Amino acid sequence: MNGNLKLAIQKKGRLTDKSVELLKLCGLDFENYSERLFVTARNFPLDILFLRDDDIPEYVQDGVADVGIVGENVIYEKQTDTPVLEKLGFGRCSLLIAHPEGKELKTLSDINGKTIATTYPVILNDFLVKNNINAKVIELSGSVEIAPSLGVANLICDIVSTGNTLMLNKLKKSFKVFDSQAVLISAKDVSGNKKKNEILDSLLKRIRSVLNARRSKYLMMNIPKEALPRISEIIPSLKSPTVLPLADENSLAVHAVIPADRFWEIVDDLKSAGASGILLLPIENMIL
Ligand code: ATP
Ligand code: ZN
Repeated sequence: MNGNLKLAIQKKGRLTDKSVELLKLCGLDFENYSERLFVTARNFPLDILFLRDDDIPEYVQDGVADVGIVGENVIYEKQTDTPVLEKLGFGRCSLLIAHPEGKELKTLSDINGKTIATTYPVILNDFLVKNNINAKVIELSGSVEIAPSLGVANLICDIVSTGNTLMLNKLKKSFKVFDSQAVLISAKDVSGNKKKNEILDSLLKRIRSVLNARRSKYLMMNIPKEALPRISEIIPSLKSPTVLPLADENSLAVHAVIPADRFWEIVDDLKSAGASGILLLPIENMIL
C-alpha cells in the first residue's frame, strides 16, 4: 500500500495501445508494460495494473484498482456500480444483430421467436425487453459467428467493426443494439480517500486537456488585409483569432484554434475569401 492511485488498463487487446498512448500524452513516464502485472509511473503517484478487460469493472468496483479504462459494453454487461468519469473517444464499436444471408430481417419484430447467440446476454436481453421482443438468448463465450451455421442459433449479436468476420460466415448486419467506446470508470468510494482523490483530480485534468487538444487543431494562413472581417466570420474559433503583420504590407497572417472536424467544411470558404498557405497543425495539449 504505497498510497498511489491504482489504474487498471487492458493487458493485451484492442484498448491497450490507445490507453497507453493516452497516459503517455498525459505526461506519465512508465516502463514497457508487456511482461508486468503492474508498473509504477516514475513521475506521478500512479500504479498501472494490466488486466483482462472483462475483469476491470469488478476489480474497480471491489477497490483492487481505484480507476480503470474499459469499453462501455463491458461495464454495461457486468452491471457493476462503477461511475463513468470520462468518455475517452477511442475503442469505438457497435453491438449488432446479424442474420444469415438470404434470411433478411425487415423489422425488429421479425426477431420474435428466433434464437440469438451472443457473448453479451445482459445487453441483448435489455434491448429485447425494451423493444418488446420475445426471443431466446443463448450465451456463448466466443466465436458466436459460427453459431448459425452449426444450427445452434438463428441469429447472432456481436461486436462488429469491419464486417469481415461476418462475411466469412455468410452473415449480414441488421439492427444496432449498443454503441460503445472506451471510458474511464472509478470505484464509488475513491472520493472518501483525500490523497487518492487529489491524484485522481490531477489525472483527470490531464486527460481532459489531452482530449480537448484532440478535438482541436491549430489553423494558420495568410490573407489579404481587407479579407480579415470575412475570414473572422468563417473561422469557428474559441476566441478571436491571432492576427500578425507580414513583411508584405497588404497581407496578414491569421492563426486560430478550431474544432478539428470543422476544417473541411470551412477550407473552401477560406480560399474563396483569399486565404493562401493554409496549414493545419495538431495540438498536443490544451489547458482550458
Ligand atoms: P481480453 O483478453 O482482455 O479479455 P478481449 O478479446 O475480450 O480481450 P478485445 O477484442 O481486445 O477484447 O476488445 C476489447 C474492447 O475493445 C471491447 O470490449 C470493445 O469495447 C473494444 N472494441 C473496439 N473495437 C472493437 C472491435 N472491432 N471488436 C471487438 N472489440 C472492439
Ligand atoms: Zn475480454
